[in-house]
Amino acid sequence: MAAPNRKTETHSKAGLKVTLLATTDLHAHLTQYDYFHDRPDPSRGLDALAPTISKLRGAFPNVLLLDNGDTIQGTPLGDVAASEDEPHPMITAMNALGYDAMGLGNHDFNYGLDFARQIAQSANFPVIVSNVTEIDSHDTFQKSVILKRQFTDTMGNPHDVSIGLIGFVPPQILKWDRAHLCGRVSVSDIAATAAQLAKTLKAEGADIVVALCHSGLDRTGNDPSGENAAYAVAAIPQIDAMIFGHTHQIFPHPAVAKSETLPALDHYRGRIHGRGAVQPKFWGYGLGILHLTLAQSQDRWRVMASHGAHYMLRPQAHPKPPEQPIHNRVLQHIRSPIGTTHTRLHSYFSMLGSCQIGTLLAHAQQDAAKRYLAEHIGVSDLPLLAAVAPYKAGGRAGPLHYIDIPKGDLLRKHTAEICLYPNSLEVVEVTGADLRDWLERSAACFAQIKDQPSDLIDPQAMSYNFDTIYGLEYEINLAKPARYDGTGLLRDPKASRVEAITYRGRPIDDEMRFLVATNSYRAGGGGHFDAPARGRACLVMHNAPAVENILADYITRNAPLRIAAETPWRFTPLGGRVAMFETGRGAQDLTQDAQDRGLIYQGQSSQGFSKFKITL
Ligand code: MG
Ligand code: MN
Repeated sequence: MAAPNRKTETHSKAGLKVTLLATTDLHAHLTQYDYFHDRPDPSRGLDALAPTISKLRGAFPNVLLLDNGDTIQGTPLGDVAASEDEPHPMITAMNALGYDAMGLGNHDFNYGLDFARQIAQSANFPVIVSNVTEIDSHDTFQKSVILKRQFTDTMGNPHDVSIGLIGFVPPQILKWDRAHLCGRVSVSDIAATAAQLAKTLKAEGADIVVALCHSGLDRTGNDPSGENAAYAVAAIPQIDAMIFGHTHQIFPHPAVAKSETLPALDHYRGRIHGRGAVQPKFWGYGLGILHLTLAQSQDRWRVMASHGAHYMLRPQAHPKPPEQPIHNRVLQHIRSPIGTTHTRLHSYFSMLGSCQIGTLLAHAQQDAAKRYLAEHIGVSDLPLLAAVAPYKAGGRAGPLHYIDIPKGDLLRKHTAEICLYPNSLEVVEVTGADLRDWLERSAACFAQIKDQPSDLIDPQAMSYNFDTIYGLEYEINLAKPARYDGTGLLRDPKASRVEAITYRGRPIDDEMRFLVATNSYRAGGGGHFDAPARGRACLVMHNAPAVENILADYITRNAPLRIAAETPWRFTPLGGRVAMFETGRGAQDLTQDAQDRGLIYQGQSSQGFSKFKITL
């Protein structure tokens, strides 16, 4: 696509340098403390970024500080804050830092619409969500705003500049948080809404329009689901700059510039379709910095040049001890004892069929589902299965993003880590055909293994989208192509690699009916799982318990825990074909477990993952 046609004639003597500093996907990383492991963490968080924010404010003449959403959920601090009536500590910190505006992300709706509204009301800056309409017309969120700022040009003269801001969340929030949002909000397409609003803002006098896009770059350049629309938003002529997020990647990323396949992405200057664009690093590991050079042309300030870059945090030797009053309450919460375990619980091999944590979570979900169904719906004679994914098992968050709980006391920090997201329990009724499709979607997390050794896991796949269905037995045949691609988009409806599916030793047929205890994200179709969303929702409770609370309760009632890991599925033997499996650094001393699974340790990868050879 061609670069935007901008008039280059300029009538101003001096240019105006405007710098956008941006955070995205902070996920409640506020303090320099890791609440999952109960120890100081100097590597990330808004507190850690604060000195840099004030330094950069001093270094550049005209600065806007922006946040791009997924801000209030992601650590036990977020969970504790959501259970209290206090001002939200993330917003308190952002008020103190003088944020100019924020957009919301999908996870900011995880604690409900009313909680998201409280967030917006407690912010001293506009909270913008352009593609969400509140049906009961509260209008708490702003669809757009024009910030009027007096900026100083390069000669030191003041000028009034109007900056239009718009913000977007993936329309899929209606599926992912349907229990909270269904019937209360409507959501429109990101790119279409952006095009319309940007035009309106320009007509209303905005000099420039900046999009806060909580939506990522889709590698095909055109995500048909509309979840990742950043590429399309950057192509809109009236949009001058974009902060984007959601996918937990970074842009620009000069290291991948040479292998970039999308021609409109300029990783050297930080531009998409010629416009300045930045995806800052998640969890407060860094700041996005977007420099815009404005010049006056035809009575309006226009962007003449832009440059996008990152500031990446260097871990400090002496992290600042958290001063927020909530810190002690979070410590108290994560240290609450709930039970004990006789074995080390880890997620290093959770993608390989047999997993203690998966078994434990499946039993907790089934047990609670049985009780709630009996209480609210009546006893059913349909088989009750459970779908469970390893939420924390590698991926973009790196070789340390695994669960590894030593044997001994189990505390709330452990259940927080096992569940990670505040999803609630739901039960869906599906057919045998739906189950087959559900498993095909999961099995797309693996690559097709041919004669040459290759990576086992599809590089686009996310472990939290690998559901194992407990209660069934089946095989996954990696000689065959997957029905879906690694992101979950349908590739070939006829492809099938999940075989020999049985329930209690008997093959399942398409018409059989089952209940599946799952979570609200999956029941709504999250992760491009159409099968559960096609099913009949038979347990969707208002104020349903979070899966994490169900797990903690189960652990307490069954203490001390002795979990015999179930093996619902295996890889179909392929006569010795070989694949490489990468997992967390901590897996290297699990020699016996690795051997039992036919894994041979191959050393560390350049990124710090433990590499194993697996023979199928
Ligand atoms: Mg997100
Ligand atoms: Mn996020």
